[in-house]
Amino acid sequence: MMKGTSDSSKSVLLLNPPGRKMYLRDNYSSPESKASYYWQPIDLLVQSGFLKNDFNVEVLDAIVEKKTNNDVLQLLAAKPYYSVLSLTGSASWPEDFELFEQIKQQHPQIILALTGNLPLFRYNEIFATHSFLDVVLLDYTTNDYQNYLLGKTELLQKIVYRTPDNKITVVDKKLPREFSFSVPQHKKFNHRLYRLPFAVRQPATVAIGSAGCPHKCDFCVASEINYRFRNTDNLIEELKAITAMGFKEVGFTEFMFEVNRHRALEICNRIIAEKIDITWSCNCRVDTLDEELLTRMKQAGCHTIQFGIESGDQAVLDMHSKRYKVTTARETIALCNKVGIRTFGNFILGLPGDTENNMRNVGKYARSLGCTNAVFSTLVPDFGTSLRDKVVQEGKMEDKLTTFSSTDKVFEKPLNGVTPDKLLAIRRKVMIDFYLHPKFIYDNFIKVKSFYELKAKVAFGLKMLTRI
Ligand code: SF4
Repeated sequence: MMKGTSDSSKSVLLLNPPGRKMYLRDNYSSPESKASYYWQPIDLLVQSGFLKNDFNVEVLDAIVEKKTNNDVLQLLAAKPYYSVLSLTGSASWPEDFELFEQIKQQHPQIILALTGNLPLFRYNEIFATHSFLDVVLLDYTTNDYQNYLLGKTELLQKIVYRTPDNKITVVDKKLPREFSFSVPQHKKFNHRLYRLPFAVRQPATVAIGSAGCPHKCDFCVASEINYRFRNTDNLIEELKAITAMGFKEVGFTEFMFEVNRHRALEICNRIIAEKIDITWSCNCRVDTLDEELLTRMKQAGCHTIQFGIESGDQAVLDMHSKRYKVTTARETIALCNKVGIRTFGNFILGLPGDTENNMRNVGKYARSLGCTNAVFSTLVPDFGTSLRDKVVQEGKMEDKLTTFSSTDKVFEKPLNGVTPDKLLAIRRKVMIDFYLHPKFIYDNFIKVKSFYELKAKVAFGLKMLTRI
């Protein structure tokens, strides 16, 4: 580590490593992109803001730029990088770790830092077994990486690092509820290569207004990350900056946009009052929205909301601490349709407690709610979740480091009595029920808002057809 001073002649590489598939590794999730969608990795974007005044920041998103491990190694050989901050995740870690081993063998002086779901929840095992690892960020919304690189260890808050005498130091302090960061270097991410799932305009980028989630759904990684919110002035400053850079659309990729109603209204009111020309999408719960807030969101540019609906069975929702009433989902989707905001429902097949009959009808249920679009994932007890602890204790799965996409894996031992083959057959039926219905085609291909959106929808539709 340097001691105490900034040095913009030192280069830091923010890396999304190459992959055999289109892994999405940001925000502590690790799915594969199923419909050719891909967005700027938010962890790296946020860190580009923290680092910009002290270091020369370079970005390589090897997934969208279609680069190989050799390309990464050649780049690192071309000049002396001080540090590499890389994403990794449960879907891709064996491939990623191969590259990290090579980086450390060829460039032992480079400080190698990781962010992602796997290092967050399993850093002990990784530090113990992989000498390439120097640093793990336990929260990408802090400036710990910057402070670590500057040698300001007294300021560290949530980070794990290896000391020169090979000891592992864990700093895990309680963070303030509010956070801010300098405007990220959006232009260093080649926006032409990204395609946000819901964008209606281009160019598009991503942003966050909060971190973690205060709710305790047992299958969800967000429930294990303390909810914190971003200073509103700081968020508005970034929205103004990105529109000044030419962006027309932003995807808020935080887990939950509207935890605090007052704050959500304030953000919308500021976007409207300060005439920020931006269209956007976000994630919300079905039980925290009302017509006034939805109307303000729509006026502020929101066109699509993604909801975690998960199941249509109250007992299943209750069993997994989802804590909303099934009737509320129907009412809120209806309100969104009334206000003119499109809805994207997330459903999980295979939750313990769910029955075969319930699952078979999820596609029809999603349609009956009036969802514009939906995705049907098979359950994954992700690293760090309380559901994973439970099924491990019950002997239904081993708690070892395996690879899995965080939205798409069928475990050998069924978690709710439905065999893997049957679960996949059920999902196929559910997808046919939803995607091949005239309502889906009308909502998604006739009612589009732009040519860009039509192209994206056609690509989505073709990809979905290949998966059925
Ligand atoms: S499923 Fe949604 S509400 Fe529940 S913990 Fe995750 S982000 Fe929060």
